Amino acid sequence: MKEFWSEKAKSLTPYTAGEQPKEKMVKLNTNENAYPPSPRVAEAVSRAAESLRLYPDPDARSLCEAIAEYHGVRPEQVFCANGSDEALALCYAAFFQGGAGNAGGWFPGTSTPRKVKTPDVGYSFYPVWAEFFGVPLEFVPLKEDYSVDVDKMCGGSGMILANPNAPTSIALSVPNLEKIIQKTDGVAVVDEAYASFGRATAIPLVQRYRNLAVVRTLSKSHSLAGLRVGYVVADENLVAALRTVKDSFNSYPVDMLAQAGAEAAIRDADYCRETVEKIVETRAYTIGELWKLGISTLPSDANFVFARFDDPPAEAVFGALRKHGVLVRWFSGKRTRNFLRITIGTREEMDILLSALKEILCK
Ligand code: PMP
Repeated sequence: MKEFWSEKAKSLTPYTAGEQPKEKMVKLNTNENAYPPSPRVAEAVSRAAESLRLYPDPDARSLCEAIAEYHGVRPEQVFCANGSDEALALCYAAFFQGGAGNAGGWFPGTSTPRKVKTPDVGYSFYPVWAEFFGVPLEFVPLKEDYSVDVDKMCGGSGMILANPNAPTSIALSVPNLEKIIQKTDGVAVVDEAYASFGRATAIPLVQRYRNLAVVRTLSKSHSLAGLRVGYVVADENLVAALRTVKDSFNSYPVDMLAQAGAEAAIRDADYCRETVEKIVETRAYTIGELWKLGISTLPSDANFVFARFDDPPAEAVFGALRKHGVLVRWFSGKRTRNFLRITIGTREEMDILLSALKEILCK
């Protein structure tokens, strides 16, 4: 094994994505949207298919314009990528790797690395990219109540967090985010994969903070996890750095079908709002029913809940749910092992989950 592998490849511990089961299950394990995308997506994709002979626009300008309109920013402040995972990876390369000017990874005049701060419980891809790009991370412990410790997140040479946080589902308020951004020397990356299901967004702050990059995805709010489109909203200068890195790696990360489908979804804002509202309603229903079963959840601003299980333990409940045909996610970390992360599906799916839980807990 590993014959012919580069030293780099040998050194990596990759991210493990949630399972995509072959058999039919109630799939509440990867925070996909419970509803199909806007019908306009399929129309746009099939129209775009007629032009597949050609390369796509390398900078996805038409899609950037639609996203800019949607958020009330300028198109030059938008950068599109092949899913927000790719956007985040490019942020590491463009802003964190090896240090950069006042965004530096190093204390001036010394060889001591200054670290990029991130909460100790967060999206588990962040440490994987840190290893890949050789970026020193400082893990800032969450507070006792699992919220992000705002004061301790200040003062890094860079900063990355998910808001709402994953897998905890708790969101920081905009003033708290602003405090961290102000007190970060380099670039502050705010991953808003789940922000559409809550109230807080840092996007308006982009006009004021030249060191802020807000990362978004169409995978959750726009039901397009399979299309792979994510984007960054940031100052033009940061967008230029991202384009430079992209064009040094892959000029066409967002293919023509994805550009067309994503633009159609973004322009159908009413459809997206309706599905998000349905999920937010189902979330409130699910949390209420879980509490009736004696299962507590952290306050959620996302399309999933983080529910606590002590007896039987979360890992056992995970296994028992699987036997009932319900797939959720369990994380083995010290502070996460007593919880299950449960995606909010349709009302019918949540009822199947709830009756399975009733059976498991009453045994
Ligand atoms: N950020 C967070 C916090 C996530 O949970 C996910 C989904 N795994 C992503 C980013 C990546 O989403 P995508 O690549 O589908 O845009």
